[in-house]
Amino acid sequence: MQDGAGRMGCEMGPSALRTAGLVEVLSSLGHAVEDMGAVQAIPVRRVVHGNLALKALPEISAWTSAIAEAAYAASENAMPIFLGGDHSISAGTVSGVARRAAETGRPLFVLWLDAHPDFHTLDTTASGNLHGVPLAYASGQPGFSGYFPDLPAAVDPKRICTMGLRSVDPAERNALNQVGVTVHDMRAIDEHGIAPLLRAFLARVSDEDGLLHVSLDVDFLDPSIAPAVGTTVPGGATFREAHLVMEMLSDSGLVSSLDLVELNPFLDERGRTATLMVDLTASLMGRRIMDRPTRSHSGSF
Ligand code: MG
Ligand code: MG
Repeated sequence: MQDGAGRMGCEMGPSALRTAGLVEVLSSLGHAVEDMGAVQAIPVRRVVHGNLALKALPEISAWTSAIAEAAYAASENAMPIFLGGDHSISAGTVSGVARRAAETGRPLFVLWLDAHPDFHTLDTTASGNLHGVPLAYASGQPGFSGYFPDLPAAVDPKRICTMGLRSVDPAERNALNQVGVTVHDMRAIDEHGIAPLLRAFLARVSDEDGLLHVSLDVDFLDPSIAPAVGTTVPGGATFREAHLVMEMLSDSGLVSSLDLVELNPFLDERGRTATLMVDLTASLMGRRIMDRPTRSHSGSF
């Protein structure tokens, strides 16, 4: 789907990721991979909202139902990887895996890797592009009731960590602070380095025996290495920062589901962004430069 983005092209994202060899790469790492194809759309019902800026609300509401159902089904005894599509697919993917987590009695954590927090509500978005709302919806923020599907299980905002932010609207900033989402913007990454920030979050997931959903927006990455996105913001994560995140996630063994979103192949340069997204996924799924001894404590290098 691409209705949630401000421009067309994300619909071709899954094709580009397949062409870049996602299935083959994961298989070569020893994983059993099943490509489940595209989620089928369900009939759109009429939805009218007072915010006249909203674009494609009925379509995205219908998609959210269909994707949530697919995510719930795919997360039974498997690790689903969801190929977008714009980031509005995550309204469905996160709510679907949250329902699964709630049924298994384990808390769901979310790591949101993105230049934007996507924490607008239907009332606060000025652009009306609904790829700006999925995290607010999935964490149970107000104003979605009657417009989006009812949430079977909301993600606790205190179990959400966003990394890489560098474009946040005032309404989002207020909401993030108010509900206690952990925010590591690019300045925090510059000041502290990305590893200690991620390590602290992963320790929390591990302490609570949680499941971890990772949502990777192409614009988390610096546009110089990942041009294929409609929402470029300068100053994103570097090639090594992004791989380090994926390698640490792999070491943690905590990741239970993954979104790869906002890839717009129409804006790519000879497939380099699609290839990078596949390589990052490979790092997350166990590809490593060298075997490393597991350390129970830091101190020696
Ligand atoms: Mg996003
Ligand atoms: Mg973004």
